[in-house]
Amino acid sequence: MADNRCRDRSVAVIGGGIGGLTAALCLAARGAAVTVYEQAPEFSEVGAGIQIAPNGARVLEALDLLGALDAVSVRAEAVEPVDGLTGRALTRFDLSALEGPGYRFVHRADLLNVLLDAARARGVTLVTDARIESVGEDGRFTAQGQDQAPDLTVGADGLHSVARGVLNGADRPFFTGQVAWRAVIDLPDAPPVARVWMAPGRHLVTYPLTKGRLNIVAVQERSEWADEGWHNVADPGVLRAAFARLSGRVTGLLERVEDVREWGLFRHLVAARWYGEKLAILGDAAHPTLPFLAQGASLAMEDAWLLAARVDALPLRDALHAYQSARAPRVARAIEAASANGRNYHLSGVQRTASHAALRAMGNVVPGLWLGRLDWLYGYDVTAA
Ligand SMILES: Cc1cc2nc3c(=O)[nH]c(=O)nc-3n(C[C@H](O)[C@H](O)[C@H](O)COP(=O)(O)OP(=O)(O)OC[C@H]3O[C@@H](n4cnc5c(N)ncnc54)[C@H](O)[C@@H]3O)c2cc1C
Repeated sequence: MADNRCRDRSVAVIGGGIGGLTAALCLAARGAAVTVYEQAPEFSEVGAGIQIAPNGARVLEALDLLGALDAVSVRAEAVEPVDGLTGRALTRFDLSALEGPGYRFVHRADLLNVLLDAARARGVTLVTDARIESVGEDGRFTAQGQDQAPDLTVGADGLHSVARGVLNGADRPFFTGQVAWRAVIDLPDAPPVARVWMAPGRHLVTYPLTKGRLNIVAVQERSEWADEGWHNVADPGVLRAAFARLSGRVTGLLERVEDVREWGLFRHLVAARWYGEKLAILGDAAHPTLPFLAQGASLAMEDAWLLAARVDALPLRDALHAYQSARAPRVARAIEAASANGRNYHLSGVQRTASHAALRAMGNVVPGLWLGRLDWLYGYDVTAA
């Protein structure tokens, strides 16, 4: 890691989520003096799981955090598409064949703690209760009454990013016609497999977490929704009713749900501008993605690595230009693939029968094809880019 334009440069990161903390680490590892400003009173993550694919794990590996991740995550062995109505697995795609650091399931709070511990150890300054109301293209902003003018400001402030608005004007997301619930239940001994339970107009994804827990994300098509927030407390009875026609394997899991959150799924365009004079955005601030490819956090970590690498290697303006040029096509492809998955999971009638037959055939006849098709995503190593 040694081009060293980062050395002694001051960097402010707005937002202490997975993307912001990874950016802080990547920049601090190259010698920058980094401060993270988080609006919440403490660094915390919602109580839910997240999948870290090999492309995201490579960033953690390069930061020497794979051991820490292993201690809090489950190593995934396979993905199983399941007919949600009958509860029968259509096939099984083996993830153990993946090259590199492997695929993991982790509780978001545990991943955040891994990043926080590493940030503290690297000397990153962490400031909470610091909501940034506005920021200039020159990277200047006010935090807790103090004016700040760092050499670079990174907007990692998520879905409703202030920094994105400064660079791109108002964002106009549109409702996808889908709502989602997420819950974590106790389920000791669940196999290390992500199951996608597909049914007409709805699906669930389940996978195990450490400490005998199972993460559930459930998605249903619906015509209306107003709020994009992630933290609306929901009624488990409504979730159970929405999936009542599914196999007993699913309804049995949903019977155990006590605490559930729901939110509307909105599609956002990838931001047209990712940087200004001394301001750059990354992660959900630049390119919110639907959850159907489980890549939002992994892409944010890739962004973080590449931004730091370019800032270290090039004069700032060239670095920020090179960063967006390298990242935008890749994230656009991933977002498109996520949207396509959402459609395919919810098919009905003849299309559903044909799609299930194709999945079975792929699994039986050419089992490597599914993973091979995802090689552009999982095989990518941003740390070598
Ligand atoms: C149900 C669901 C499941 C998902 N599953 C996966 C998965 O399996 N794998 C995967 O890779 N991705 C997944 N994602 C996507 C992933 O969670 C996000 O893409 C990722 O967390 C984005 O990280 P971020 O740091 O860019 O934004 P965020 O995690 O949203 O963090 C932004 C941070 O900025 C802070 N902030 C916001 N505004 C300000 C401000 N003005 N001033 C100061 N601080 C501010 C916020 O409090 C927050 O801490 C999932 C998303 C959802 C909704």
